[in-house]
Amino acid sequence: MNLILMGLPGAGKGTQAEKIKEKYNIPHISTGDMFRLAIKEGTDLGKKAKEFMDQGALVPDEVTIGIVRERLMKDDCKNGFLLDGFPRTIAQAKSLEQLLTELNESINSVLHVDVPKEKLVERLSGRRICPTCGTAYHVEFNPPKVEGICDKDGTPLTQRDDDKPETVKNRLAVNIEQMQPLLDFYQDKGHLVRVNGDQDINDVFQEIRSKLENESL
Ligand code: ADP
Ligand code: ADP
Repeated sequence: MNLILMGLPGAGKGTQAEKIKEKYNIPHISTGDMFRLAIKEGTDLGKKAKEFMDQGALVPDEVTIGIVRERLMKDDCKNGFLLDGFPRTIAQAKSLEQLLTELNESINSVLHVDVPKEKLVERLSGRRICPTCGTAYHVEFNPPKVEGICDKDGTPLTQRDDDKPETVKNRLAVNIEQMQPLLDFYQDKGHLVRVNGDQDINDVFQEIRSKLENESL
């Protein structure tokens, strides 16, 4: 099962990815998480990515395509994968097609988690993440059991720098502009599956399951 999750920042891709990964046993490949890890570890990749991420801008295609290529060649992708946050440009989408052809693979479905953009600012500004395991919470919509503490490992939650109000608006504007051509690209290929992301987290997941299971019949 080779899947792509698409949606604006805050649409709930990471939240759904955790559920999809568990249910279908495929790795969750998030370019954003890979860049954040590289920044934390202070690698060259991290240094390159940081200057773009801090402004809410996209990291250059050649850098991004390089890390995805390396990741998809790993053994754990043999039964499938779930890409989250990639591709974000047509150049990335075309490179992905080329890479998958080389690997004798193809995309099965592109899940578009669709949420009205007016709702995204409050989702992003209330997002808190666990710096240890990456789980996302929301102060109001998906709070941890103990305020400010990760349910899974007890780490104090933090806010992503790019979720602060100064960056959120620019990030949304950049992403809205970039995403439409990609939706058109996958629509033309017949891969696009729309999911209503403006409902409870578990209801979004039920819709994803039922649509994936219908697709594969
Ligand atoms: P993305 O990976 O698309 O940027 P996240 O999965 O991190 O989005 O979700 C963004 C924020 O919205 C998080 O704080 C998350 O807890 C919250 N969230 C996710 N899905 C929903 C939902 N269906 N309803 C309300 N809040 C949600
Ligand atoms: P969100 O979906 O919440 O915006 P991500 O974690 O996917 O956040 O991405 C965070 C940042 O990482 C982006 O704003 C961008 O700078 C960089 N990034 C992630 N994926 C890509 C990509 N495919 N191409 C270019 N930049 C990316």
